[in-house]
Amino acid sequence: MIQLYIPLNFLGVLYREIKQSLADMERLFSLMDQNKEIADKDDAMVLQIEHAQAPEVRFEHVNFSYEENRQILFDVDFTIAAGTTTAVVGHSGSGKSTLSRLLFRFYDVQAGAVTIAGQNILDVTQQSLRQAIGIVPQDTVLFNDTIAYNIAYGKPGATEEEVIAVAKAAYIHDFIASLPEGYHTMVGERGLKLSGGEKQRVAIARTLLKNPSLLIFDEATSALDSQSEQMIQAQLKQIARNRTSLVIAHRLSTIVDAEQILVMDKGRIIERGRHHELVAAGGAYAQMWERQQHNNVIEANAS
Ligand code: ATP
Repeated sequence: MIQLYIPLNFLGVLYREIKQSLADMERLFSLMDQNKEIADKDDAMVLQIEHAQAPEVRFEHVNFSYEENRQILFDVDFTIAAGTTTAVVGHSGSGKSTLSRLLFRFYDVQAGAVTIAGQNILDVTQQSLRQAIGIVPQDTVLFNDTIAYNIAYGKPGATEEEVIAVAKAAYIHDFIASLPEGYHTMVGERGLKLSGGEKQRVAIARTLLKNPSLLIFDEATSALDSQSEQMIQAQLKQIARNRTSLVIAHRLSTIVDAEQILVMDKGRIIERGRHHELVAAGGAYAQMWERQQHNNVIEANAS
């Protein structure tokens, strides 16, 4: 009897594991595959990016709406020069995240074009497009598995040394090393709960392993103390190095070094330039900066 029990019990465990990983996969694909209408052309090409080269990204006069009769983006036109960072700021609902969704081709533009290294993203395979792009989302979904697995997910077959190296670069190694089970600690819904910042660091480590030439960084909106803000700034610098990056920013202090800042309002770019230029111009950005500085002073006085 016991001889039968052990394999059956093992099968039960295996079944639960498979079911769970399918649930995770489903969640992943439901995120990846939001719009079934997006399909590769019959003659779709593999996106060509020269080895180890960060590509130029262009949004050319893009109009976009999710639903008929409600236009979200109006004639959005900008270039992210190869290897540089462009940050997008603006009120909630102004269209910032929509830009990243279009770049990843969750949706197709209605007019204009999005190009990467001169290739229209409509003409390349989705697989090669998504392989080239790393996303650090606001809220990272962790698998119910070890923290090592969650990081290594960025590169199937990654070695332990590689996982530790990227964890160090993402400033999360010390935290992991301090856990009793270290890199074997179970995380996710049924394991150790990580804070928003810790989860984002796992996502950064994962992205560093994937080593994409293009990066989308969606800064978490959660309130952070100024020490954590500095940490994010350092992480962003680290991960954006030698890549072309689009950063959706909520705290202006994290993007003062960006080569280009776009200010969005109701689906249009209303200002663009570097931080000091926009502050000097005294427009919408300068007002946002003033307000955030003021709030920081109030918070610092309160603590
Ligand atoms: P936030 O800072 O709050 O994340 P955002 O600037 O990133 O805002 P978007 O998420 O790009 O704003 O949304 C722009 C507009 O598009 C909003 O009015 C939003 O309601 C609308 N929108 C976003 N996603 C969808 C969707 N899937 N279907 C329909 N409308 C959508």
